[in-house]
Amino acid sequence: MARHIVCLSFDFDALSGFIARGLVTPTPISRGEFGVVGAERIAALLRRHAIRATWFIPGHTIETYPDACRAIHAAGHETAHHGWTHVPPANLSRAAEEAGLVRANDAIRRLTGADARGYRSPSWDLSPHTIELLLQHGFLYDSSMMGHDYLPYRARSGDVIALEQPTVFGAPTRLVEMPISWSLDDHPHFEYFRTEGVTLPGLRAASGVLENWFDDFDYMTRTTEWGVITYTCHPYVIGRGHRMLMLERLIERLKDRGAVFTTMEDAAREWAGR
Ligand SMILES: [Zn+2]
Repeated sequence: MARHIVCLSFDFDALSGFIARGLVTPTPISRGEFGVVGAERIAALLRRHAIRATWFIPGHTIETYPDACRAIHAAGHETAHHGWTHVPPANLSRAAEEAGLVRANDAIRRLTGADARGYRSPSWDLSPHTIELLLQHGFLYDSSMMGHDYLPYRARSGDVIALEQPTVFGAPTRLVEMPISWSLDDHPHFEYFRTEGVTLPGLRAASGVLENWFDDFDYMTRTTEWGVITYTCHPYVIGRGHRMLMLERLIERLKDRGAVFTTMEDAAREWAGR
């Protein structure tokens, strides 16, 4: 019997992404603050639809907004790891990366009573050490790579990549990769972002994004008997009115098409058990 799983994931960056980019004046900080408003709206929507989701929460958010994070955990959602700061591991030394991994896991353990089982790197860029560190620290899955759309796979370690040589792939590890895509992330579609020399236009009509997101699920039902699709949203992005309506419409349409909603941890375990 066909089974098509949907994982709704929310990267609750709040202020951390702005701080990591050095944007610490009052307006960008307030833009991150709006994430707490968005998180409440999302939690209410998920409650109405009896959906458990996965929240990737930086340690900075857990320690800045402990009540908001406790409410998410108390509602039965999965809390997963998203660094302590929002600095991508590719920009850190191995020691700094591991220290952030441990510090954020300490914050998650104080919040939920357990270590995180899932990891998603800030800005979706892993360092050469990340997979090995995640294995060392007992993670079940990562969700930062784009090697498939509907099927988890085993993350590799030790690829040898050189410009003028064929790539030699490293061995698959135990770590389950729960793949993602920028096309299924609210941020590039919606978030207007301007820094010196860079303007990301964003601000697309939510109706068009809804069609894209639904069609990616639809295609999964046509091409797989078992599959999982992961949508990535940020409370400070999706939390705006017209986008919340889009998220609600998406959930309703997916339900009508037989989608099964689970946390990413449950989906990773289900895939590994097949
Ligand atoms: Zn993030």
